[in-house]
Amino acid sequence: MMSDTAKKIHLIITRQNDPQSQPYTEEFLVPYRPNMNIIGALIEIQRNPVNAKGETTTPVIWESVCLEEVCGACSMVINGKPRQACSTLIDKIEQPIRIAPLSTFPVMRDLLVDRQRMFDALKRVKAWVPIDGTYDLGPGPRMPENTRQWAYELSKCMTCGCCLEACPNVNSKTAFIGPAAVSQVRLFNSHPTGAMHKEDRLEALMGEGGITECGNSQNCVQVCPKGIPLTTSIAQMNRQVTLQSFKNFFG
Ligand code: SF4
Repeated sequence: MMSDTAKKIHLIITRQNDPQSQPYTEEFLVPYRPNMNIIGALIEIQRNPVNAKGETTTPVIWESVCLEEVCGACSMVINGKPRQACSTLIDKIEQPIRIAPLSTFPVMRDLLVDRQRMFDALKRVKAWVPIDGTYDLGPGPRMPENTRQWAYELSKCMTCGCCLEACPNVNSKTAFIGPAAVSQVRLFNSHPTGAMHKEDRLEALMGEGGITECGNSQNCVQVCPKGIPLTTSIAQMNRQVTLQSFKNFFG
C-alpha cells in the first residue's frame, strides 16, 4: 500500500490569464495529506508552481477569506458542482479533481471571479435595515420566535453565488437578480424594523431582472451550501409581489 507521503492528488484546473483571454486547462500532482481541503491543494501549487509535466508555471489564483464556509469567497465548480473550496475535502471526492471558476460571473484570473452582480442585486432590493444615526436606539421591537427561527436560516446567506451558478436563468444575457437576493427580501421584510421598507423591496422585485424571470428550475435550493430554503422564499415573494401589484393597480 502507498504511504500517505508518496500519494499525490491529481487536479485538472481551468485557468485563464485575464478577463479577455481564452481559458485552458493545466494538470497538477500535489502531495497528499490526510484531511486536506481544496484550498490546501491550491496552497501546495502556490508553494511549488510546477505542473504535472514537471514544467514551472504561474501559481493558480483564487479568492478565500474565512476558510470556514462563512464568507462565500472561495466558490468554484468542483467536479461539476458549484461549492466552497474550503469545505470540500479531498478524501470525499473523486479524482482527478476538476476545478473551474464559476461560469456565471466574469473571470478575473484563474479561479477568481467578480461577484459584483450579486452585490448590485442586494443594493437594488435594499437588503438592509436602515437606521437613523449611530446612537443607541434601544432594543427595538421583538421578533416572534417562530419567525426568528426561519429568518435566522435566511440570514446565513454568504453571497457565495452557488445558487446563481446553478440557475439557468442567471447568465450574461439576462439581468435576473437570482435566488439569493429574492430570499434576502423575504428576510428583511420579515424584520420588524426592516418591514417599514417592505413595499420598496417588493417594487424592486418587479420589472426587468426581477422575480418573474425565475423559471422555477429549483436548482438553486439543491446547491446552496447553507441549506437555505430558496424555493420557499421565491414562492412567498411571488405571492407578495402579486399582492403589491394589485395594491398599486387599485391605488
Ligand atoms: Fe450561496 Fe445559498 Fe446565499 Fe445562494 S442563497 S448565495 S447558494 S449561501
